[in-house]
Amino acid sequence: MIPPVPAFFSRRKHLQWLALLAIAVLLPTASLLWFMSRVIANERLAVQEKLRVLYQDKLMEATTRTESLFSRQIATLDHIKPGMNPYALFRWLVLENNFQGVVVWDADGLLQYPGAGGPMGNTVSSGNPLADAWQLEFAKREYSEAAAAYGRFTADNDPHIAIAAMAGKARCLSRSGRLDEAIEECQKAAFAVPIEKGDPALRLTLENARLLLLSLLKQSGPSPANTAIFRRVVNSLVGDLYSSSGDRALLPANQNLFIAQKVLDALKGPFSFNDTKAKAQLEKLAAAEELSIAAAESLRPLAGQFDTVFKTRLGETRVFGLRHQTSSATLLALLSDAGVASALAGYHDTFTGTEASYRILDPADAFVAGTAEPHGKPFTVAPLPQSFPGWKAELYFEGGDIFEKAANRQIAVYTWTGFLVIVLILIVGGLATRAMSRQIRLNEMKNDFIATVSHELKTPLASMRVLVDTLLEGNVKDQAQSGQYLQLIAKENERLSRMIDNFLTFSRMERNKVAFTLLDASPGAIAGDAIAAVQTKYASNSCHLSVEIAESLPVIQADHDAIVTVLVNLLDNACKYTAENKQVSLKVFRDGDAVCFSVTDNGIGLARRHIRRIFDRFYQVDSSLARKVEGCGLGLSIVKFIVDAHKGKITVESKPDQGSTFMVRLPIGPANGD
Ligand code: ADP
Repeated sequence: MIPPVPAFFSRRKHLQWLALLAIAVLLPTASLLWFMSRVIANERLAVQEKLRVLYQDKLMEATTRTESLFSRQIATLDHIKPGMNPYALFRWLVLENNFQGVVVWDADGLLQYPGAGGPMGNTVSSGNPLADAWQLEFAKREYSEAAAAYGRFTADNDPHIAIAAMAGKARCLSRSGRLDEAIEECQKAAFAVPIEKGDPALRLTLENARLLLLSLLKQSGPSPANTAIFRRVVNSLVGDLYSSSGDRALLPANQNLFIAQKVLDALKGPFSFNDTKAKAQLEKLAAAEELSIAAAESLRPLAGQFDTVFKTRLGETRVFGLRHQTSSATLLALLSDAGVASALAGYHDTFTGTEASYRILDPADAFVAGTAEPHGKPFTVAPLPQSFPGWKAELYFEGGDIFEKAANRQIAVYTWTGFLVIVLILIVGGLATRAMSRQIRLNEMKNDFIATVSHELKTPLASMRVLVDTLLEGNVKDQAQSGQYLQLIAKENERLSRMIDNFLTFSRMERNKVAFTLLDASPGAIAGDAIAAVQTKYASNSCHLSVEIAESLPVIQADHDAIVTVLVNLLDNACKYTAENKQVSLKVFRDGDAVCFSVTDNGIGLARRHIRRIFDRFYQVDSSLARKVEGCGLGLSIVKFIVDAHKGKITVESKPDQGSTFMVRLPIGPANGD
């Protein structure tokens, strides 16, 4: 007997194959996952780099633009020429060029604007013809007398004295309760003469009279007449202050500023003044003059680099300063926040409408321009042009991290592709595993088959040999015994032939070489031939066969011999797989448009899980060589093959220990259908 292949070995081999397959699937999957993670990381870096490069170019563009804008702004300072009216210049720089103030030194370092100015105006001195009137007004407080004393000089030839006398008279009249007369008198003083170039003292006297008139009007209240006078006074004051025409006598900056502030105070009073533009300009100019005066006091002309912006404080105000030198003067220009913002317009113009926002910080990292509180961290930083030393521009992305968004889009594509490839690998791996398992199982079955075939062939051959040897040696008693021996040999022979027939059919079947000849065949005749074929076997195994063949069955289109083979196999199995008291029944009947052959036994039956597989090649419920019955697991696969070729159907009903019924349904050909 051939020793069976230990199950252990085949299982190990099976496992080895599966392990190999798992590696073949898992290794590429893991590599792919690793590769994907690297690609994703690289993608993030690549996108960041791409955007950084893109925006760095934009940043460069903004820097260049700012540089040219700013140098143009600095160039405006070169318009300053020696001998220019400082107020005309001041007005132009502040109102037209966004400067917040200016200090001008001449080539020798002497302050040109804002000049501090010496004490001007009227001083009490005994030589002044108004001295008596002052004595009465300020020392004795005798206002009526003082008014009369002033009145004596109101027509004086010297306009300084005449205007001062008129103003003094108006003052004293108001003090003595004669307000209307005071206003009348003061008006005369305020508009006594036009303001002449080159006489600051006269201008100051005149402007003082006008300021006095403003305060008298305020006391009197906003009647229509007073409002008309108020507007006239204010217009002439505003026209004189910071005049660009250059025909006004120049006042020292502090006195100019004093008058400007008084006018602004008066404008806050009850009188309506509808020239809002003039008012706004005056406010701006007064503020700039105040800063210019403060800057002239605290900042020196040569204390720093030229043409670079620096930040400083003047009192409470933060200002940006810039020193510049022309051929004839040294300048300190003060830049307001708006001035700096307009100098930095290059950034604004470049980044408006892009996904990036910018923020400009000064050397102390204080915010200057752009988005005050941007989102997240800056993705790139660059220095400002050299006029802004130590300043920097930071770029941010609006609405979250655009790197993330751009990278995520790409990553999603990679992830999906990777995912699909992995799924594909798994599917292919799964299919390969299944095919391989099948192949392995088939191999195992074939191995079993060879062992079984050898075993099956050996048994009849051995018994035939013993019988033949006995006959040859003449060890037989009589003719009857030799006849019996010969019959035994014939039986073994028959068994062998049937087995070999099965092998051959199977082999042809495997090679697709079986051709069935479908002719009119009688189901009764088929059943008869099958019964005859198994008769001897049934008799020697004490197997009882009951046969029921319905009458007048139609002929079927079938290969007679093939269907006989089907029935022989089924009857053979029914006898083989029944232990004791073997009862087998064969029924042939018509069911609808089919003829059925059913073989029922009272044998060992089949569990459900085996039923599914008994038609597979080489499949045996008990495949051990120690089993009692012969056979090599081919019979039912041949049966199924033949039935399928006839477009028929084979079904099994079976339960363990309760016997089985195999039923073959063969369709009646169309010509035979009733
Ligand atoms: P074998 O040569 O082993 O009989 P078959 O292909 O004819 O091969 O049958 C396949 C298997 O189906 C058998 O090994 C047996 O276990 C089972 N089988 C077939 N017919 C019956 C039956 N009538 N009762 C119980 N088991 C059966």
